[in-house]
Amino acid sequence: MSTLFDQLVSTYKSMEIAFPDLKPMTLAQWILESGRGESQLAIQHFNFAGLKWRDEMVGFATPVKFEAHDGVDFYCKFSSLKDFIVGYWKFLTRKPYKGWEGKATEGPDAFIGFIGPIFNPAGDEYVKQVRALVKEATDRLNAATAAPTTPALPRVPGAPVVVVIDPGHGGTSKVGGSSPNNAVSPSGELEKNWTLDIAKRTKTALLSKALATGKNVKVFLTRETDINLGLSARANVAKDKGAKLFLAIHFNGFTEKPGEKDVRGVETLIGTVNVNPAEDRQLAAAIQDRVLKAMQEVDPATKTLKNYDRTFGKGFKEQALGVLNDVALGNSTSTHPCRACLVEIEFMDTKEVEDLFRIVPSNSTREANRQKIAEALADGLLSRV
Ligand SMILES: [Zn+2]
Repeated sequence: MSTLFDQLVSTYKSMEIAFPDLKPMTLAQWILESGRGESQLAIQHFNFAGLKWRDEMVGFATPVKFEAHDGVDFYCKFSSLKDFIVGYWKFLTRKPYKGWEGKATEGPDAFIGFIGPIFNPAGDEYVKQVRALVKEATDRLNAATAAPTTPALPRVPGAPVVVVIDPGHGGTSKVGGSSPNNAVSPSGELEKNWTLDIAKRTKTALLSKALATGKNVKVFLTRETDINLGLSARANVAKDKGAKLFLAIHFNGFTEKPGEKDVRGVETLIGTVNVNPAEDRQLAAAIQDRVLKAMQEVDPATKTLKNYDRTFGKGFKEQALGVLNDVALGNSTSTHPCRACLVEIEFMDTKEVEDLFRIVPSNSTREANRQKIAEALADGLLSRV
């Protein structure tokens, strides 16, 4: 029996939904779709209903590329069991399901008879299979202990490892050495918005990966909105929160030689005046490796570009950077709890990179690309927790 599925049942039991009578029928559907919580979609992404990615799910889920029995597609990734349940009901508010509430008032059989054939091309056969699992679903709900108000996700022992993520730039004016923006895409998108988007996704990805691997992690962003903080103030967040890892996220712009706009590459930097260079190098290499790999996956053409790895295979570059100042990070020669690096994900002033990541207009492929980079950053950070 799947522990994960038991937790889903407990969580569902404790949650209030608009049509409580539909709990057994919808749970029966999830038993079928997820193989009682044993599908990879359920295990990896808390998606127990095989929900494919749809733009209306922004804010409820994130898109993830996944190979199911019917081929590769984008699916919804949820960050918790509760988010899945909320997301499932959100999914039904989409246009194709319009009118389901009317059916729901007629009862669970009418409900599944209506949504089933929209949900699955097998139509009546699918509806029959779901109905056959209602008894099991009812028994499971009866047997389950309602989860406490917060969903009963696995508890992780030990003190949390603190990670601080710093989305580069922000706001409209220069503050303490931090410019409001640096790189600009060909159509005018700003680095500060891309860094914030990626940082937020990295935080979510890191928390869910930590949970999945039994690691206890706490994540802070230096800014959650479009504001600017000075370089020391950013590093001070790591010091104040007792961080073990600090990652500043930037995108590059090629300003040295105007007109030569085809420079591409990933680079990860560590500070030159540095009390713990070996530790910083390990972190930088972990980040660089994964972002480089992710970039090559989202854009295979990058592999052929000369000097695509701008660290020239070392995994890091050294530069005097205020945001990586050891004193501000809380490091001294005798105690250096914090490892820090700064990643320049790509050259956003090239047309190719803009096409891969631009935020407007919103598009699920580009959103998935940004998500992929965030997952790579989260993997790199998690490897050093
Ligand atoms: Zn920057």
